[in-house]
Amino acid sequence: MSPIQPTNACLCDTLPDLAVIPMGFDDLDTRVFATLDRLRDHGGDPWWLYLSRCSACAQHWMVAQEERVYDDYFLKRLDAGTATGIVDKGIWPADFLTYEQVLTLGRTKSTPPRFHDAFAYSLQFTVEDLRKARPAITANEIAYLLGLTDRDARLLFWKVRLFGAAKLPN
Ligand SMILES: [Zn+2]
Repeated sequence: MSPIQPTNACLCDTLPDLAVIPMGFDDLDTRVFATLDRLRDHGGDPWWLYLSRCSACAQHWMVAQEERVYDDYFLKRLDAGTATGIVDKGIWPADFLTYEQVLTLGRTKSTPPRFHDAFAYSLQFTVEDLRKARPAITANEIAYLLGLTDRDARLLFWKVRLFGAAKLPN
């Protein structure tokens, strides 16, 4: 196996500039990420955000890995100058900087799952993050972002607001 792959080994050209890749669906994620090397994590609060570069065609992608609600990767195609700005100066495009932005993208471009447990840990932590970033966010807005019924969203919202998100079991 040669370490240099031909350019037709990647899927970059087949993707839109803003791509939604479901996790584990039809192995599309495996095929897309087979050539993407993770260059830089944003770090800090946006734990979901990183920069990748394709080892086959050198295309840069900004990736938001949303694994709490929608189970999607959101990929934004970046030009070389923007990628250099991230690597050299830590200047990130604003698209995926808050979890609310990422979930809004999920809501508009993907399909919310059905949660059988409205108090699932992933939902509690998400509500906690959303409220931390924007304390005025409402239960209705959370219902929309998470694809929950208004009733479930209100229960979840007040549970987290009054008691905080559950601690992870260890
Ligand atoms: Zn590529």
